[in-house]
Parts: sequence; structure tokens; C-alpha cells
Amino acid sequence: TSFAAAETGLILSRFGQHADVEDSEGTVVRCNMRRSVASLVTGDRVVWRRSLQPTGGVDGVIDAVEERSSVLLRPDFYDGLKPVAANIDLMIIVSAVLPALSLNIIDRYLVAAEMTGIKPLLVINKVDLLSSAELAQTEQQLALYRKLGYNFLAVSAKSGVGMQQLLDYLHSGTSIFVGQSGVGKSSLMNHLMPGLEAHTQEVSGNSGLGQHTTTVSRLYHLPEGGDLIDSPGIREFALWHLTPEEVTQGFTEFTPWLGRCKFRDCKHISDPGCAIQHAVENGDVSTERYDSYLKILASMAQDKPNYF
Ligand code: GDP
Ligand code: ZN
Repeated sequence: TSFAAAETGLILSRFGQHADVEDSEGTVVRCNMRRSVASLVTGDRVVWRRSLQPTGGVDGVIDAVEERSSVLLRPDFYDGLKPVAANIDLMIIVSAVLPALSLNIIDRYLVAAEMTGIKPLLVINKVDLLSSAELAQTEQQLALYRKLGYNFLAVSAKSGVGMQQLLDYLHSGTSIFVGQSGVGKSSLMNHLMPGLEAHTQEVSGNSGLGQHTTTVSRLYHLPEGGDLIDSPGIREFALWHLTPEEVTQGFTEFTPWLGRCKFRDCKHISDPGCAIQHAVENGDVSTERYDSYLKILASMAQDKPNYF
């Protein structure tokens, strides 16, 4: 086959050795990948060439991937850590009031956001289940995060409360929803992007691609601007690959105290002369966040005898 001149494009989805590339006009062309393309995921920007004799099948070739501004990884049984989505600007960390709100899980995702350099937004879903007194109490519980500089929204996919504000966050850049199973991520995405469900089913129905829906990440354009990456494989990602130092860095309010501990290799756990523990005692760092930090380290050290 002969190809037209090189152009840039956006990866909407990847299927094995093929990928759907969107050109600058919004046309989608299924392409092969050159062998030299080592890694390619949804959200990647690529240099590609379209076939001069399109067949309606695979009609282009991807030559190169442009540098990523951010990447989300997940562990793969065979490959170690594997990228699953790239160039994400906003990580929408979804929690719900049912199952009960877990600040520790929120903290885990915040560490991940800090480490990947993706801006986080905390979203608390299902507030239709709360009385106004309970809602006030929940907002008070989360005031801590606002103080740390994190934005949060109380929403309901069911009643529509807060959905317009959520949309406003999505209008610029590329967003991804993460959070535990059952918090309402699919419900929120379907509310924001009617037709998403149908789309997902369409992909799973195409057995010729040899891929199961649950592993396919896909980029969608929102009707009013902004992009959404739906990546089932990453929705419930945890913090498998972080060192204790990275977990420490993920708690941004610890930063002013780092380097002030008595011992250079201070783990900030029960070490004498620890500046962070001191900050907790003085009320400069919240006890909740510090306890959450200890909990994350303890859970990461599980099954890893030499973690510290
Ligand atoms: P996901 O696993 O995070 O994608 O969660 P789903 O979107 O599948 O939602 C899990 C359950 O919560 C479903 O039974 C939804 O109907 C329900 N749900 C989702 N959003 C809301 C909400 O705002 N209010 C209430 N009351 N239920 C919700
Ligand atoms: Zn310390």
C-alpha cells in the first residue's frame, strides 16, 4: 500500500495491533502500528499516514507517538506496569455516601493524582440519599480537602444535583473517572454523555476485534466540549507501584516538613525527631490525613517484606 503525507491524530481506542485514530477533521480511521511504536494507548497523540487506497478496513499506519503530558499505569500479569491512558488533565475521584464514604480511599487516589501530575477533583455522589443535615455534615468532613487546595463537588446522578458544575469541569481538556465499584461512575458518565452505554455495547458486540469490553479504553468527545476517557481497567486502580517516599510526596501538606526530620532516612512512622509527627502534634497536619498515610504504607507493605 502507498500512504499519504504524515499528519497528526488522536488515539480513541487501541485493539491489539490496531488502533482507531481520529484526524483533525474528526474522521476516524483504523490503523496498523509500526513495529517501532512500543506503546500506544487511548489519549495518545500520534503521527500517522492514511492509505491512498482506503478499503473501509485498516486504512492507515501509525509511525510515532508524541510525548505524553501524563500517563496512567496498571499492573499487568505479564508486562509489569502497563500504560492504559495518556494525556489526561483531570482525575475525577468519585466516592459516594453509600457505600459509606472512605477518606482513606480518597487519600489513595489523591496520592496517585499527585504522582501522575493529573489534577484531581473530588466528587461525592448519591447525595440525594442524604438529609440536608447529613449533607452539611459530609461537607464539613470534606472541608479538610478544600483547605488543602482540592476542589470537591457534591452530586447526584439520580436527581441531577451538581451535574452542571461537574460538566463545567469537563469542558476543557481530557478527564477520567476513577473510584471504587458501586459509587456511580457509570451512572455519572451516562448522565453526562447519553449514548455512552450503547457505544460500549457496540464495542463488545464486535467479536472480530477479539477484545472484551472490560479491557477496552475509549476516548469520547462530550457534546459541549471536552473529552472523557472511559477505561474500565483503570477505574479501580490502586497504588501498587509507589515507594514509601512517593507516598510521602503524595501528601502535599507534608512538603514543608520534609528534610527537617532528625534522621535523613526518617520513615515518618515512629521515628524519633520526626518533623511530620511533630506537625501532627502541633495541629499543622491533620491527624486524619496522617493516620491515612500510615494506613496506606501499612497496606502497601503487605506481601512486600522489603517494602521499607
Ligand atoms: P460504578 O460501579 O461506579 O460504575 O457504579 P454504577 O454507576 O453502576 O452505580 C452503582 C449503583 O448506584 C447503581 O445501582 C446505581 O443505580 C446507583 N446510583 C448511581 N448514582 C446514584 C445516585 O446519584 N443516587 C442514588 N441513590 N443511587 C445511585
Ligand atoms: Zn519524619
